[in-house]
Amino acid sequence: MPFYKYMCPDCDYEGKISHKMREKIKYCPNCNSEDIKKVIGNFVSKMADSKIVKSKLNVETFIKNSKKDLDSSKQDFEKREL
Ligand SMILES: [Zn+2]
Repeated sequence: MPFYKYMCPDCDYEGKISHKMREKIKYCPNCNSEDIKKVIGNFVSKMADSKIVKSKLNVETFIKNSKKDLDSSKQDFEKREL
């Protein structure tokens, strides 16, 4: 079961609670307040960030590679001209 981060503004409870994806914690395990809120974990945003960085890197390598291709085809062309 995945862990979800919850925080309760009533008692400053903050912790990870394991439950099924479809389920939702309705009451704070510390003070039974209904104000308990699910916190979007840093883990998820970090994963998204690394994905963005990865795709950016891929684009940069792609540009580098296509520049190389362009250079080599240009050289070929020049050779043919001579
Ligand atoms: Zn609480």
